[in-house]
Amino acid sequence: MLAIDIQNVTYSYPDTTTAIENISLQIPMGSKIALLGPNGAGKSTLLHHLNGLKLPQEGSISIMGVPLNKKSAKLIRQKVGLVFQDPDDQVISGTVWEDVQFGPRNLGLSEEEIEAVCNVALGSVGMLEFKQKAPYQLSYGQKKRVAIAGVLAMKPDIVILDEPMSYLDPQGQDEVAALLQGLNFMGKTVLLSTHDVDFAVSWADTIIIMKDGKLLEYGGPE
Ligand code: ADP
Ligand code: ADP
Repeated sequence: MLAIDIQNVTYSYPDTTTAIENISLQIPMGSKIALLGPNGAGKSTLLHHLNGLKLPQEGSISIMGVPLNKKSAKLIRQKVGLVFQDPDDQVISGTVWEDVQFGPRNLGLSEEEIEAVCNVALGSVGMLEFKQKAPYQLSYGQKKRVAIAGVLAMKPDIVILDEPMSYLDPQGQDEVAALLQGLNFMGKTVLLSTHDVDFAVSWADTIIIMKDGKLLEYGGPE
């Protein structure tokens, strides 16, 4: 089964900028995919389609065999976790613990289940001891890890990260890189955008190059 099946998707913003144009892409389950391209290439716009945050204006998207539309978007958000580029857009609760609980609580899990999945998620990003901290007390890299934990607490099959390495210092980048390896070991399909060619080549099994809203290349790191 394909994790993600994108067929001829086009999206234009209201000011008529065509951000992505006739994109088709098939992503098998379990892959590690890096989407490379300069600023403005359309990476964020494409990624925001994959959990229903944006719906295709033309073309279609299926996630694990389920066509993405207004009705299925809620279900698909449980399968596809999206980590935004800026953790300040995502980590917005009073404390880390409240923030990570938000998703599983929305899913209607019991208090015990919420506690368990949140402990596992925070543990897997190395942020358990920061549970009671407020987001403003954390470094940018720590907030990024909390944002990832919030997504993992929903137990998604597919994890999408928009520029996970951006604005991190080298230590933060190493921590996130290790975390990304771990996600794949957990059996998740991982798709991320980056403009770091070296990181993409070292991490991904497939690299996609985007420019001006179009797919230029698709293949192994070589
Ligand atoms: P990337 O993530 O590769 O930097 P984006 O998807 O953010 O690319 O942007 C693709 C194009 O769409 C760019 O020309 C950008 O200026 C434009 N764009 C992105 N977001 C908006 C928006 N909210 N309104 C109008 N244009 C936008
Ligand atoms: P990225 O690096 O992912 O392209 P940007 O820094 O370009 O992100 O964009 C930051 C925010 O501004 C995003 O929410 C994006 O949708 C929005 N944005 C980008 N380009 C435009 C634009 N031309 N007009 C309006 N909003 C935009």
